[in-house]
Amino acid sequence: MNPKITDSPVAAFGFDSAHCFIGGDWKPAIEGGVLELENPSTGERLCSIARGTQTDIDAAVVAAQTAMQTGWGRSTAVERGRALQRLSQLVLAHVDALAQIESLDVGKPLKQARADAVALARYCEFYAGAADKVHGETLPFMEGYTAFTLREPHGVTGHIVPWNYPMQIIGRSVGAALAMGNACVLKPAEEACLTALVFAELASQAGLPAGALNVVPGLGSEAGSALSAHTGVNHISFTGSFDTGVKIQTSAAQSVVPVTLELGGKSAQVVFDDANLDAALPFLVNAGIQNAGQTCSASSRILIQRSVYQTVLSRMAEHYTALQVGNALDDLHLGPLISVRQKDIVSSYIEQGSDLNKVAVGQLHEAAANGYFVLPTLFADVSPNHVLAQEEIFGPVQVLIPFDDEDDALAIANGTPFGLVASVWTNDGGRQMRMAKALRAGQVFINNYGAGGGVELPFGGVGKSGHGREKGFEALYGFSTLKTVAVAHG
Ligand code: NAD
Repeated sequence: MNPKITDSPVAAFGFDSAHCFIGGDWKPAIEGGVLELENPSTGERLCSIARGTQTDIDAAVVAAQTAMQTGWGRSTAVERGRALQRLSQLVLAHVDALAQIESLDVGKPLKQARADAVALARYCEFYAGAADKVHGETLPFMEGYTAFTLREPHGVTGHIVPWNYPMQIIGRSVGAALAMGNACVLKPAEEACLTALVFAELASQAGLPAGALNVVPGLGSEAGSALSAHTGVNHISFTGSFDTGVKIQTSAAQSVVPVTLELGGKSAQVVFDDANLDAALPFLVNAGIQNAGQTCSASSRILIQRSVYQTVLSRMAEHYTALQVGNALDDLHLGPLISVRQKDIVSSYIEQGSDLNKVAVGQLHEAAANGYFVLPTLFADVSPNHVLAQEEIFGPVQVLIPFDDEDDALAIANGTPFGLVASVWTNDGGRQMRMAKALRAGQVFINNYGAGGGVELPFGGVGKSGHGREKGFEALYGFSTLKTVAVAHG
């Protein structure tokens, strides 16, 4: 192998950004195709990446199957934990470089990109520690028998991830799958995949054997659909849009392959009149505008009890007018959206709110002109049935909705087809418990939102937000299968 290092932000890591990582080697896509990445802060070309297709996915699946039959498949849980621990340390040693690369590729302000890199290290650390803590059980059974369960890897796991939080999503899905002893084929998003490639290089440096982790960049309609339909893949973890999730589940069903779907949301924060507003305010705004609103768990609906509605509205508006938008490397509150396409989608939602009370917008930093910027926009007095209160916008747009009482708040909060995250701000203990139980969501936060990133906290949705759980210890059950053994011994 003699990689030709193109002039790319990953050159310092010693591999060609236009290569796939398969069976421990960097190689160009077999059909020779490349795709161009853009810097969303400037609209300029960033570098080339490989355009992997069916043949590269075939090669990656064979490499993963081989790893399962040899080194990685025979490793002990403690060996896998140590490998992940070394990987975590390597990620931590390169946090600044990873953050720079992610800022250029995704358009994240540096501080957010750095937090994602630290989270990637933390996922590896968490799953390193968990690898040798997963075990089966002995089962009370008939006289003369001993019965027990074994937790086993699926085999080859496919991971299809989006562009918005590449490092965090890779950490939570690949980290857990590797800990359970699976060999992974990762298909990062075509819009942003550089940190996935660096992660593969660091995994190799950490001593993961060839084929334990393979990365094939490419288009969803080519490499992505080849992976989700591949008969050699034993489990698919998908994070992305509802429409793609439906396609992936449909195609995996043809070979009855289990699928975890982490899809979108329309998450609500519910503010009661007894809440500590000083504590709530930063969460109400940040959970909507973080990563320029391109967050599955973005809190795009703020439900406010009428008696404090005007107060919360004016305090949020104050925050909004101070928000600065600009080049990711300038590290302001918001960077650009990922692409001109995403900018057009979000702008068209904002136009659909032209009949609404637009109470505040942020400011564009003067140096930022050519990127895919959308100003954060706050709408008030929005009907719960308005399109802006029902559909996932995936941009920096929040709607304020007044409510009267607990029943009213619940009906509105549960009144979309999604169910990813919700939060409740109240000091009434009984109400905290009633709301936590009645809200239709995979995660409910009381007097906080997002809880420190929540590496330890199982995450996933109900309804159109998907099914299955990643993060926390729970993910290890999703990335393994249970075998029951009954021994007749008299
Ligand atoms: P997307 O569905 O367009 O793409 C996600 C991934 O799927 C990419 O890697 C893409 O190449 C691939 N893909 C596209 N078409 C495919 C196909 N036919 N077969 C196989 N793979 C295919 O989503 P996106 O626009 O990149 O991401 C935004 C969406 O992701 C939003 O809806 C957001 O809410 C959701 N999301 C969810 C979570 C979560 O944890 N629940 C996290 C991040 C993003």
